[in-house]
Amino acid sequence: MTDTPTQLFIGGTWVDAADGATMPVDDPATGEILCHVADAGAKDTRLAEDAAVQAQEEWARTAPRARSEILRRAYEIILDRVDELAHLMTSEMGKPLPEARGEVAYAAEFFRWFSEEAVRIDGGAGILPDGRNRMLLSRRPVGPCLLITPWNFPLAMGTRKIGPAIAAGCTMILKPAPQTPLSSLALAAILKEAGLPDGVLNVVTTSRAGEVCEPLLRGGRIRKLSFTGSTQVGRILLAQSADAVVRTSMELGGNAPFLVFDDADLDVAVDGAMLAKMRNMGEACTAANRFFVHSSVAEEFGRRLAERMGALVVGPGTRDGVDVGPLIDATGRAKVEELVADAVERGAEVLVGGRTPEGPGCFYPPTVLAGVDPESRLMDTEIFGPVAAIVTFDDEDEVVRRANDTPWGLVGYVFTEGLDRALRVSERLEVGMVGLNTGLVSNPAAPFGGVKQSGLGREGGRVGIEEFLEYQYLAVPVR
Ligand code: ADP
Repeated sequence: MTDTPTQLFIGGTWVDAADGATMPVDDPATGEILCHVADAGAKDTRLAEDAAVQAQEEWARTAPRARSEILRRAYEIILDRVDELAHLMTSEMGKPLPEARGEVAYAAEFFRWFSEEAVRIDGGAGILPDGRNRMLLSRRPVGPCLLITPWNFPLAMGTRKIGPAIAAGCTMILKPAPQTPLSSLALAAILKEAGLPDGVLNVVTTSRAGEVCEPLLRGGRIRKLSFTGSTQVGRILLAQSADAVVRTSMELGGNAPFLVFDDADLDVAVDGAMLAKMRNMGEACTAANRFFVHSSVAEEFGRRLAERMGALVVGPGTRDGVDVGPLIDATGRAKVEELVADAVERGAEVLVGGRTPEGPGCFYPPTVLAGVDPESRLMDTEIFGPVAAIVTFDDEDEVVRRANDTPWGLVGYVFTEGLDRALRVSERLEVGMVGLNTGLVSNPAAPFGGVKQSGLGREGGRVGIEEFLEYQYLAVPVR
């Protein structure tokens, strides 16, 4: 902890907030304060914006190979420091160390992927249909970006945005979530070490997100917003982006359906459920939120899932053998408690868990609820905790209709051994991603994103860099 930066990173230097303000960072496993970091106000953010704007022109002219190699070096430094970064992440966010190590590797992979993409940005040339004009197409960075990230994947949500922005030649301001600023500050130090020029990345940690981000979005100098967070905040930011017609990529909430058909391999389905539900303690927008299980296998599936969930060890993420860390904070846990209480009041049966443990830290046990009333609040609210809610169905058309009956459309999971059904149902789901007989879809080489109110645009994959590029078309007469 002693080496981790706690100041703002502006124009390549570490500085305190102009008014000297700081904010505490808590350890969710103990509720104790880990340290204080700078708490930026509007003045600091303006300085960060100045730095990003000033650096933009030269950065856009930097050779793609040079940008690529900075990312590659950063990738290697991250991998050299997996343990150190994982400990930092666990201390501020709570996830168990093995999961934190997994996230560090996943986060690094975005840098490797986009280091490879940086040198594959191509344009085009051709003769227009009238034969009298040529068309020359080139790609340009969109310009200075504002990147806003959530607390649930403190490192990977940063690299997923910073990687393509660097590869495309954009400068940026990163505003991490106030709960988990340390991973982002550590990342900025790594990028500096990897040779990133001053001003290309600026990091402002703040407890006053609305106050500092709104002027950036309305000011006309920031050309792109990439946001990952709740749909509720996403809507506000979309409205603020309208003024200066800022380009947006939005990764918002989910309400993932998890469908288990009567012809599913139940071993595969239960493994998939454990991943789709318990990755990150259920604190993921991809987390399975609604389990629709065919009535003929629902009892067996519920029993096996409850057995697996009940065997998980809950405790501080730094302790050996722990599978499930604390939730992020008291508010997050209170929401999970309320949703479970509502479902139980409406008749759900608690197969395992469901009771908040005594003592410090924001712990909540892995919980399986069976016979959930479809009107329960957790069916249309992101639970963001380790709670699996099972409802039953009998008919394919009916379950597809119910799965799609939500404003969200990020990801869906389908478990069946029938090829025709697998494809038919996957294609009918109104989602950006489908896990077919698997509970994990996220991969840096695949386009991540949702439809409906789950967002706009895609991150990762070949298209990830497109979000940070513009076209310029040059019309040239044939003479
Ligand atoms: P969560 O509920 O998971 O914390 P949020 O959408 O509230 O999700 O937060 C995601 C990110 O958006 C965080 O970095 C948070 O600080 C930021 N944020 C929240 N409100 C605003 C706002 N009004 N303007 C800009 N950023 C915001």
